[in-house]
Parts: sequence; C-alpha cells; structure tokens
Amino acid sequence: MLRTGRTSVKDCLICKKEKQYGIHILGAFICHKCEKEMVRADVTDDCYSEYVERLKGLETEMFIHVKKKQVIK
Ligand SMILES: [Zn+2]
Repeated sequence: MLRTGRTSVKDCLICKKEKQYGIHILGAFICHKCEKEMVRADVTDDCYSEYVERLKGLETEMFIHVKKKQVIK
C-alpha cells in the first residue's frame, strides 16, 4: 500500500494536543477524546462551562476574522 508519508495531525482546541482523529467545529479541530467528554459532560459540570467558554472564544475569533475581511475590502 502506498503512503504519502504525510499524516494530518491537528492541534485539538480543548486539550491542545496533536491528534489524528477528531471532528471539526466552526473550522476548529476537536479530538475524539474531547468530543466524547463534551458529549458526556453535564451542564452542571465545571468542565462543561470550560468547553463552552472555549467554543465561545472560537466564535469570537471567527467573528473578528470575518469583520477584518470586510474592513479590508
Ligand atoms: Zn482533545
């Protein structure tokens, strides 16, 4: 089997570790482990609010990016 030798490893938004498998949310990468933990997390859990905060930050980043684009042109 031929391989290109290029493994697509991405930085996980939540755990900040390089992972090969995961999902993409709003253009960001979240690894399988964190995805599972997010799904499992209860709204009352401390870690849940942390996830929400990180995703909020992501949305803000994207919003700023879009705004910048609009300003340039
Ligand atoms: Zn992760």
